[in-house]
Amino acid sequence: MFFFFVGGVEQGAGRVLKEAAGRCLRCGGAADLVETDKVLKLFFVPVKRWPGKDPAYLCRECGLLAPGSLGGGEPGTGPPLLLRDARCGACNRAVADPQFRFCPFCGSAL
Ligand SMILES: [Zn+2]
Ligand SMILES: [Zn+2]
Repeated sequence: MFFFFVGGVEQGAGRVLKEAAGRCLRCGGAADLVETDKVLKLFFVPVKRWPGKDPAYLCRECGLLAPGSLGGGEPGTGPPLLLRDARCGACNRAVADPQFRFCPFCGSAL
């Protein structure tokens, strides 16, 4: 027996935080700043919903949902991209380049 898992987590728009707070990246229409929800869907039926981390801009014209950091305007929303912790787990020394695969000090795999 083989079952297809039809479902997944989608991002949806929740409560409006600020009306017409930004502009749509795609069509230039007015976009509301909204809270985002993560919605777990099974067979296209939402079964679970929980709040997302960052607000987003929802376009009134075309429905595009864009991350709040792209819409501009709101300072301090959305943390910068998370960098991998550039520190050796074995000797706990800071590794200069997060791309390194081995610690230059003790040779441990990072
Ligand atoms: Zn739009
Ligand atoms: Zn090390």
